[in-house]
Amino acid sequence: MKAVERRLVRWLPRRVLVLLVAVALAQAVLVVVQADALARAVAGLDARLLPVVAAAVAGRAVLAWAGSGVAGRAAAGVKARLREAVLARAGAPGAAGGGSAGGSGGGRVTLLTRGLDAVDPFFAGYVPQLVAACVVPPVVLAGLVAADWASAVVVAVTVPLVPVFGALVGLRTAEWTGRQWELLRRLGGHFRDVVAGLATLRAFGRTGHQSAVVRRLADEHRRATVGALRVAFLSSLVVELVCALSVALVAVPVGLRLLDGRMELAAGLLVLLLAPEVYAPLRALGSRFHASAEGVAVAGEVFAVLDSPAAPTGGGRVVAAEGPPEIVLEDVTVRYPGADRPALEKVSLRVAPGERVAVTGPSGAGKSTLLLVLAGLVTPESGRVLVDGVELGELDMAAWRARLGWVPQRPHLFAASVADNIRLGAPDAGDERVRQAARAAAAEEFIEELPDGYATVLGDGGAGLSAGQRQRLAIARAYATDAPVMLLDEPTARLDVRSERLLVDAARRLLEGRSAVVVAHRPALLSVADRVVRLVDGRLVPGDGTGARPSGSFDESPGGRCGGGVAA
Ligand code: ADP
Ligand code: MG
Repeated sequence: MKAVERRLVRWLPRRVLVLLVAVALAQAVLVVVQADALARAVAGLDARLLPVVAAAVAGRAVLAWAGSGVAGRAAAGVKARLREAVLARAGAPGAAGGGSAGGSGGGRVTLLTRGLDAVDPFFAGYVPQLVAACVVPPVVLAGLVAADWASAVVVAVTVPLVPVFGALVGLRTAEWTGRQWELLRRLGGHFRDVVAGLATLRAFGRTGHQSAVVRRLADEHRRATVGALRVAFLSSLVVELVCALSVALVAVPVGLRLLDGRMELAAGLLVLLLAPEVYAPLRALGSRFHASAEGVAVAGEVFAVLDSPAAPTGGGRVVAAEGPPEIVLEDVTVRYPGADRPALEKVSLRVAPGERVAVTGPSGAGKSTLLLVLAGLVTPESGRVLVDGVELGELDMAAWRARLGWVPQRPHLFAASVADNIRLGAPDAGDERVRQAARAAAAEEFIEELPDGYATVLGDGGAGLSAGQRQRLAIARAYATDAPVMLLDEPTARLDVRSERLLVDAARRLLEGRSAVVVAHRPALLSVADRVVRLVDGRLVPGDGTGARPSGSFDESPGGRCGGGVAA
């Protein structure tokens, strides 16, 4: 067994293995009883033994049913626990990419859904068969020794050939299935990216190219699948051949001895009935092995995820205190995978309890990245983030996020009712609380104009709402959580003057009495902040911004507070 398989088996509860061994032992004994009764019944033309045969057959069927039931239940349990373990990792994406990075997301989704189901054949098929292959042959061989030791010797010598030939072919299969899985994963990742960017692709007339890429990947996957099947069929052919030849080696001498009268008919029949039973579990093991190979490849991926360096959920035991904390960034540097330039470079910033800091800067300066770092969704390459003096990596992430309100640039609204979208972060919030949040977010007016008010079910992604309305729903959502720290990324879309004023009013009420880091593209929003800092190319630019109030020096939109902003 390979290391991955050993590790996978360790996820099975011990009592399941004990049960499987017990079932296999009972089956082996029934095989011998059945063969013995059948041989004597035929040789002696004795019908009284037939009920024994029937009972043995029925017993084997019941045992097979019980065994697969036990294994199936165990497989479901192991899958659930593996999914939980992977999800726990996915919940706090680490240095590898952060919540917004696309690359590994599709792969992770494939892994959690279709991918993990592939371990079913491993637990429900391969493991029970492996137990049977270890337990049944020795027992049946013992029965064979009692019947005729010469035949037993032939069987004992040829039996090891089956696993040897099986393994030789199996090595190739493992290689093929690994390739097939890798292709499926790439296909999943690519497909997800394409779907996410469909609108953009259509706008630029690139859909044709993308469908060609998907077709090519699907084609490669098909070819890898057929290749794996070919090897699997070849291997069962080889194993069948070895078994057939081995049984023949036993059968021919038995036949000759029966002709010579050197052997009793009952004994000869018993040998002929038992010999194939020694090989049977090993033969079945081969095909079960091939059926489980994909699952093993997937398990390898799962373990790679579980072994990857811990994201900041880590052993987070320290739970932060209530109320707005002091947040300090010390020389924080963030580099996205594959980027040559860091998105943030040696950024140091202190947000005092209850202070509201606005971050300005041109597009791509790293403003959103700064918020992702504070939310623990992106892990800095170097530097420290301290919350009340405790490093972010040591905080209990769930508790920290519970203290954060998050208003992203493009808030995601789910295809659920308006009220449910607002209470996303506070599932226990009652209707009154939801209304209060909507009122604070200046969203009440437009919500009440919707066909079913708060019960209106939104389209996917909040279709049917304007950018400003979506943003205000996101503010209501943050408001409902009552979190002491707010992270707010102003929408870059151009808003009309009224929407902008509503948004700024809503933001002002949201930030009342809380700490906040607010990404602001327009001067209007700066008025809610106590202090403004400016990011350029991932670096905090000194001089500007450390002053108390925003001045007119604001490159995206010079002019007063009413000047419409230009999207950053
Ligand atoms: P801003 O919000 O100021 O416009 P961002 O923080 O979104 O800037 O991005 C900062 C830099 O990091 C940009 O150069 C951007 O291209 C890059 N970047 C942002 N997100 C990712 C990501 N998920 N993967 C790789 N690069 C990214
Ligand atoms: Mg941004």
